[in-house]
Amino acid sequence: MLDCAIIGGGPAGLTAGLYTTRGGLDNVTMFEKGMPGGQITMSSEIENYPGATAHNLSGMDLMIPWPEQCQRFGLKHEMSEVTRVSRREDGIFLIQKSDGTSNEAKSVIVCTGSAPKRAGFIGEDTFFGRGVSTCATCDGFFYKNKEVAVIGGGDTALEEALYLAKICTKVYLIHRRDTFRSAPNTIARVKAAQNIELVLNAVPEEVFGGAMGVDGIRVKLEDGSIRQIDVPGVFTFVGYNVNNQVLIQEDGSFLCDMTPWGEVKVDLSMRTSVPGLFAAGDMRESAPKQVVCAAGDGAVAALQAITYVDEHH
Ligand code: FAD
Ligand code: NAP
Repeated sequence: MLDCAIIGGGPAGLTAGLYTTRGGLDNVTMFEKGMPGGQITMSSEIENYPGATAHNLSGMDLMIPWPEQCQRFGLKHEMSEVTRVSRREDGIFLIQKSDGTSNEAKSVIVCTGSAPKRAGFIGEDTFFGRGVSTCATCDGFFYKNKEVAVIGGGDTALEEALYLAKICTKVYLIHRRDTFRSAPNTIARVKAAQNIELVLNAVPEEVFGGAMGVDGIRVKLEDGSIRQIDVPGVFTFVGYNVNNQVLIQEDGSFLCDMTPWGEVKVDLSMRTSVPGLFAAGDMRESAPKQVVCAAGDGAVAALQAITYVDEHH
């Protein structure tokens, strides 16, 4: 019987592992289907993790010491894919895994992250991380005083376009329709921004460039013509896939309350609607999708899990 099962070994899961074990829970296992570290290990450079001041620090460099630090305090790491988390009537959680085995746990912290969707244009994968980005907070600064393009017409695209417009000289907001699916106030602010040009009814066809990165994007307009926009950075915000599959129950319902777009609803203590079940990091509602925030969530969730186990078991 585990005191706590942590699902996912990114910044949120690893920090939850550090805080639960160091905080006195004896039997904690972190289930991670791949190498611990999470999606930041795909990034060639991270500049905004506080205290990590080394130049050209890659996401992998940042994350390498994290598992060792946790294991020093007793965190066990199991390389397994969790398929389902459910809760029995006696309040004990069942962790089912893809190899057919399962574990029981008194508390669970789910930290499985989320993944930005790809828009599907030519060059998107080739230039991902070399001019194509899905994170303005992470990469916007690299385009300070330059022009960039943003793709998408939802809240995220419009909010990130406004964020980038404060850093960049000009933002081309490329959207495949002429109406946005965003809050009216956000749309008004985008339309009022002096340095945001709306490129509407425009479907991204191709991002092009060379060895040094992106040189620009070509979009297909309503009349079939192609417009070329020369920019070194293209940001795509076309929605997210939340990794919430482990919470889906046998009858198709979710174990806990979710937002309409599949994120886990939590309170400020990372408690879900189910006692003993916590969620942390990019998969929880309103997540800022930053390493420092995911780590902070993991710590908060762990402290609550310790209290929960003390009080209930
Ligand atoms: P994740 O890091 O996504 O970790 C989730 C983990 O759960 C993964 O390791 C996954 O393998 C595991 N998992 C999922 N499902 C299961 C399952 N069923 N069973 C077992 N394991 C499972 N943030 C910054 O602060 N600064 C940056 O500069 C920055 N740059 C970025 C650049 C790129 C290219 C990307 C992709 C992201 C960047 N981010 C950056 C965002 C940052 O990586 C995320 O906010 C952060 O990693 C979220 O942490 P997390 O622990 O919530 O989730
Ligand atoms: P979203 O609402 O799903 O919007 C995605 C946008 O990308 C849409 O405009 C869509 O175009 C476009 N798109 C999708 N696939 C594309 C493709 N292949 N090529 C080009 N464009 C493509 O996603 P989101 O903006 O990330 O928002 C997700 C949810 O979070 C929403 O419910 C949103 O309201 C919420 N959210 C809220 C806030 C806030 O309240 N402050 C902030 C961020 C997000 P179409 O419009 O034509 O479909």
